[in-house]
Order: sequence, then C-alpha cells, then structure tokens
Amino acid sequence: MGQKKEIDDRFKKFGTVSFTATTKVNDFINHLEEGKVMGTRCLDCGKVFFPPRADCYKCMSSNVEWFEVSGPGKLVTFSKLVYAPVGFEEDLPYFIAVLDYGDYKIFGRVAKDIAEEELNLGMEMKTVVNHLPNGQLNYVFELVPA
Ligand SMILES: [Zn+2]
Repeated sequence: MGQKKEIDDRFKKFGTVSFTATTKVNDFINHLEEGKVMGTRCLDCGKVFFPPRADCYKCMSSNVEWFEVSGPGKLVTFSKLVYAPVGFEEDLPYFIAVLDYGDYKIFGRVAKDIAEEELNLGMEMKTVVNHLPNGQLNYVFELVPA
C-alpha cells in the first residue's frame, strides 16, 4: 500500500480565482490572513523572491526565510484591463501594475477605488492585503498618502 498523500490546498484561498495548490509556500496565505504580504529570501545567496519560492533557483538552496513586503515601491508600469481571464470579468475595468522594491518587483492589481488619473509612473505605492467579498484574499496596490 502506498502512503496516503496529504494535499495542502491553502493556496486556494488566494485570489479571485484559486491558485493551483503549491506546497511549501502555502504559509503565504496564513501571512495574508495576518495582514502581511510576504516574500522569501535565500539565506545562502541573499536572492529575494516574490511571489515566494521555497527553493532558490540561483544557488539551489532550500534555505529560505520569510520577509514582509513593507514600505513603498515604485510604480514602474501599469495597464488597464478591459478584457479579463475567466473569473475576473465582473471586476472590469481594472489596472494591473508592477511595483519595483529594488531587490524584487511585485506584479499585481491596483486597488479598486483608484482612478487612472491618480496613477503616475515613478510614484510610490504600497502593497496591502485585500479581502474580497467572497472571502478570498489577495493583495492590491494602494496610494501612499502624501
Ligand atoms: Zn540562493
């Protein structure tokens, strides 16, 4: 008899449409529930990962630690989506963007209440946990109060 494989599906709680179950980095969801957006950092070579990875592709180490994404990142690109993947149609139109944190970049969505004219390349934005009406969790980019 083979050993029963335990399926860790905590990642299903992430995003409007569930992520494929990914073992090892599922603590990401627990951190979101605590209000923290976290990435991982390789303890052997210092490479940082977002989305978090359990294994470093640079030096092949599995010796990684969590770090919290905090403070502002720089808006380096954004684009308005008028067509969306299945599961996202009701949210249209919305903006996807990339924030540059120096050592890493975060790809994600801009908070719903932010208008196009409020977005300027080079401006600072922050990454925050977002609770969706259906109980799912994700993260969005918000304006940094001046
Ligand atoms: Zn490494």
